[in-house]
Amino acid sequence: MSYQSYADIIIDISHENLDKTYQYAIPKEYESSAIIGAPVVVPFGLGNRTINGYIVGLSNEPKIDIEKIKPITLVIEGAPVIESHLIYLAYWIKESFGGTMNDALKTVMPVKKAVKIKEQRRIVLIRPLEELKQIYEEQLKKNNVARVRILEALLKNGILDYDKTLKGLNISRPVIRWLLDNEIIQIDSKQLYRNPIEEQSVTHTKVTLNSEQKRIVEHIIRDYNEGKRYTYLIHGITGSGKTEVYMDIISEVIASGKQVIVLIPEIALTYQTVKRFYERFGERISILNSRMSDGERYDQSLRAKKGDIDIMIGPRSALFTPFKNLGLIIVDEEHEGSYKSEITPKYHAIEVAKKRAQLTDSFVILGSATPSLESYSRCISGEYKLYTITKRAKEANPPKVWIVDLREELKQKNRSIFSRKLKELIEEKLSNHEQIMLFINRRGYSGFVSCRSCGHVMRCSHCDISLTSHVNSKLLCHYCGYEERMPNTCPACGSKYIAAFGTGTQKVEEIVRREFPEARVLRMDTDTTKNKGGHQRILSAFAKHKADILVGTQMIVKGHDFPLVSLVGIIAADLSLYAGDFRASERTFQLLSQAAGRAGRDAIPGEVVIQTYHPEHYSIITAAEGNYEEFFGQEMLYRRLMQYPPAAHILLALVTSKEEEKVERAVTHVAEALKEYIITNKLSSQIIGPAPAGLAKAKDIYRRVIYIKDEDYDLLVGLKNYLEGYFNYSGQFVGCNLQFDFNPMSTY
Ligand code: ADP
Ligand code: ZN
Ligand code: ZN
Repeated sequence: MSYQSYADIIIDISHENLDKTYQYAIPKEYESSAIIGAPVVVPFGLGNRTINGYIVGLSNEPKIDIEKIKPITLVIEGAPVIESHLIYLAYWIKESFGGTMNDALKTVMPVKKAVKIKEQRRIVLIRPLEELKQIYEEQLKKNNVARVRILEALLKNGILDYDKTLKGLNISRPVIRWLLDNEIIQIDSKQLYRNPIEEQSVTHTKVTLNSEQKRIVEHIIRDYNEGKRYTYLIHGITGSGKTEVYMDIISEVIASGKQVIVLIPEIALTYQTVKRFYERFGERISILNSRMSDGERYDQSLRAKKGDIDIMIGPRSALFTPFKNLGLIIVDEEHEGSYKSEITPKYHAIEVAKKRAQLTDSFVILGSATPSLESYSRCISGEYKLYTITKRAKEANPPKVWIVDLREELKQKNRSIFSRKLKELIEEKLSNHEQIMLFINRRGYSGFVSCRSCGHVMRCSHCDISLTSHVNSKLLCHYCGYEERMPNTCPACGSKYIAAFGTGTQKVEEIVRREFPEARVLRMDTDTTKNKGGHQRILSAFAKHKADILVGTQMIVKGHDFPLVSLVGIIAADLSLYAGDFRASERTFQLLSQAAGRAGRDAIPGEVVIQTYHPEHYSIITAAEGNYEEFFGQEMLYRRLMQYPPAAHILLALVTSKEEEKVERAVTHVAEALKEYIITNKLSSQIIGPAPAGLAKAKDIYRRVIYIKDEDYDLLVGLKNYLEGYFNYSGQFVGCNLQFDFNPMSTY
């Protein structure tokens, strides 16, 4: 094998201006260790200070005057080396989502620094037992007590832990020396991996797939064996048996000698989920989660690299598991917002999964009960293959859903947060000793203003998005900056019951205790789950029927199975409907579908009460009916009309600064540069803003946003690159920062 002479190196400083590669010469001694992905130390700048970097390319061609090429100081050995396709993936992430190459490299690395691997030193007997007995007798006669102690231990057990033996039996080093010299023992060491999965009793359970499930497995495996690589979407309600389908497909892929990554949102990565995979695949699986230490994460990535495991289960970051021979990436609950990174680079895991699959001859399966509009529209356009599972795997009747019009309640002088229907059902279930979940929809809650009498919601006339109430009776649109005064009476019906909307979990808990004093109540929200294990503690108390009513936020609607729950009450379905965000209806549909899926999962038939001021809203009606296709059709009309994703793409540019003047000036310049670029290049991209972000000031940093819409994603990538260059190289924007987000998942 011939070695290359030059390496392209990316310098490890998070500074946009240094976001390029530099060529260095590879000294002879590092010829073999200088591989793509290896971390290096190099001299940098005029003063030749040493600095860390990564090799991202190798060649024999000098790019500049040979005289000027400096040699690499050191190739760090034993450090995490990034697979070359992951380096390429990092480059692609940087290009497609913004940020620096360094940001992107950090994203694809399991941990920044190699963490010392724990080792166990062992004393291993290398003589037959008969001989050992003889030696033992001799030493006993000579009364060498220390030698006798360790020989005795070796007679009982041929392998001893080095540290424990020396300490526990009070053995000195000369004794060990004597054992080694007489070739009685050897000392070896074994790498100890921190295995995150607790040992579990293995009961290889495998259900027999029903015909719907079987068809999916057969089709996908046939494609796979024929070398066809598609992206699939499995659309099936919770409990329809998607996980069983995944597991059968995984079996086949592993049998062909490849490895599998399974992405699951962290919140759904519960003991039960891991246990099911463990029961099927045993020690060949591993998990990643955010509570693990760097050491644990590093160990798991090494195990993957060495081929000790076949399946990695985890949230977004598990996507970068350095498997050598990846075959399949599964993204379960693919609609989840947590698949989008909230830090730069703001990549979407599905897009990156597809890219990694393409680079490694793998394929991708997405699964959801409520697919994202993006994914479902790609099925319709033929980009993905769609499979639908129509029924629950275990026979269970769908719940009975009641939609309650809260405007009617007010008319009937019921000012309580509980409608008459919900109250009546709570009392009924309590007297039957069944359980109840009360769900407070707080997602994306940002103080929209509505009329309790007619349900009218104050909206921006330019964006069709609800306005948000601010101090000084101001109403503001967070997309375009439009502003108006808070009205005293409802512009639609003239009633005085117009106000910012919202109820907290704590308040609901109080009211529940007051109205149902005999009920035992648990509350689950960010407050009560702050402590480690808080989550699990509340859920298991509820599962053991230590409470009758569980009050909580969206946390309680995620994938937990409580057989005794026969009623789910959704206190205010509208909160997520007017979150000041174009995905509001989609989120509402997802949340209501999930919440409804919690009721009546076993023998007891379930009921669901959805309380709303907008009983006619399509996201509420379709969720109640469990009619995804209808919801999709309605919502796409709106997205097309407004040119929101997936009908078009949105690029968000966020400008921040500690000084308000600077941020104002910078965002104005950026907007002007943008307009000029669009005119010169005859583009039809639409600019919205600049405007103060929804979070206009956070931690003393001012935030301004510009939204750019276009149907062509690549064109927006071009715009991003242009703005990045303009912002970083013009030197005018010192003290300001510019970030990008493609098709944002939330408001800024
Ligand atoms: P999903 O992933 O779609 O929520 P699961 O795969 O978790 O659905 O299935 C729900 C429940 O039904 C699980 O307890 C699972 O073991 C069971 N199940 C799935 N498929 C079958 C089947 N074909 N026969 C019997 N039970 C099944
Ligand atoms: Zn009104
Ligand atoms: Zn607006």
